[in-house]
Amino acid sequence: MIDELTAAFEHTFGAAPTGVWSAPGRVNLIGEHTDYNGGLCLPIALPQRTYAAVSRRDDGVLRMASAQQDGLVEVSLDEISPERPGGWSAYVAGVLWALAKEGHEVGGLDVLVDSTVPLGAGLSSSAALECAVAAAASDLFALGLLESAEGRARLAARCVEAENTIAGAPTGGMDQSASLLCDERSALLLDCRSGDTRQVPFDLGGEGHVLLVTDTRAEHALVDGQYAARREACEQAARELGVDTLREIDPSGLDDALARLDSDEVRRRVRHVVTEIERVEAAVRALESDDLREVGRLFDASHASLRDDYEVSCEELDVATETARTHGALGARMTGGGFGGSCIAIVPAHDADTVASAIEVAFADAGFTAPQSFTVTASGPAHRDA
Ligand code: ADP
Ligand code: MG
Repeated sequence: MIDELTAAFEHTFGAAPTGVWSAPGRVNLIGEHTDYNGGLCLPIALPQRTYAAVSRRDDGVLRMASAQQDGLVEVSLDEISPERPGGWSAYVAGVLWALAKEGHEVGGLDVLVDSTVPLGAGLSSSAALECAVAAAASDLFALGLLESAEGRARLAARCVEAENTIAGAPTGGMDQSASLLCDERSALLLDCRSGDTRQVPFDLGGEGHVLLVTDTRAEHALVDGQYAARREACEQAARELGVDTLREIDPSGLDDALARLDSDEVRRRVRHVVTEIERVEAAVRALESDDLREVGRLFDASHASLRDDYEVSCEELDVATETARTHGALGARMTGGGFGGSCIAIVPAHDADTVASAIEVAFADAGFTAPQSFTVTASGPAHRDA
């Protein structure tokens, strides 16, 4: 990938790149739709990464191309806005915009991107793209933000601003933190209220299990509107309950809080968020005591809550998780925002092929697009490759 990308950069921009940086996609083990509620989540970095070959330019111009997209996009740093450059390159330009807004001295860049993270599969190709570019910018403009966890957290915050403001996607902070802060063989316990992070050992190989990811390839319309609607419901509930975020609702006070809400729908949204945060804490305890069966049970409970209370699952995700369970998974759940995207399952290593094939058959029987399954291990964060 790195040699090919370097050659392609030279072909596109006429000279070799100064370097190549990469950042991983992620799967969230548990703690879904909790990040924007100040809650807890537990992502791992994927082996799949987005690579960016990059050189500085001294004319304040940003030129961007991607193996996953057509054409070369050009924009002046001072022209970047929610309207410009638009499309996929907004994720790249947004990072430079956010760094400049924060007072960092950044200039123009030539950027060529290639990725092994599937796009739009709920595995956060968007954050992988932002974080690869952010890592390059940090090194090329000597910002030093990759050198410490604190610097990486600040870089992640800039990437979130890029995605929210310039790319126009109202996502929470989990994806970018995962891509910049996850360690190999670890999950990242991320407290989205305090910003605190802690590495939790995650290495199923030693237990004879694997984490199976299934990209359902389901395409559903209105996804962005649904995400915004869930955020709005949580914010409305927090206002009604007189708290800053739903994180402040203690599980022991959940019934009281629910009784104070008028809408049954909002009650179910709140119940998901509060119980899901509790499940993250339980999952961390279970992982730390090597109790994979309990982690599996928590996966199942998380999926049921997302399906029934938060209503962000879809038929494909329900079929994939159910099929995984009936073919030997210890537990399975949708991961990511929902309405498509991917599901994850903890599966005994010797059953992984059986489960993947069973999901394929179930999808064919249901008339769904063929899914794509692969096993993943917890991988490392954004860094310079060459
Ligand atoms: P996810 O992050 O789950 O993959 P998103 O909808 O958040 O899905 O982000 C996908 C979008 O990010 C793509 O439609 C594209 O605009 C942009 N993107 C991600 N990776 C790349 C890439 N390698 N090259 C160009 N654009 C990319
Ligand atoms: Mg994304």
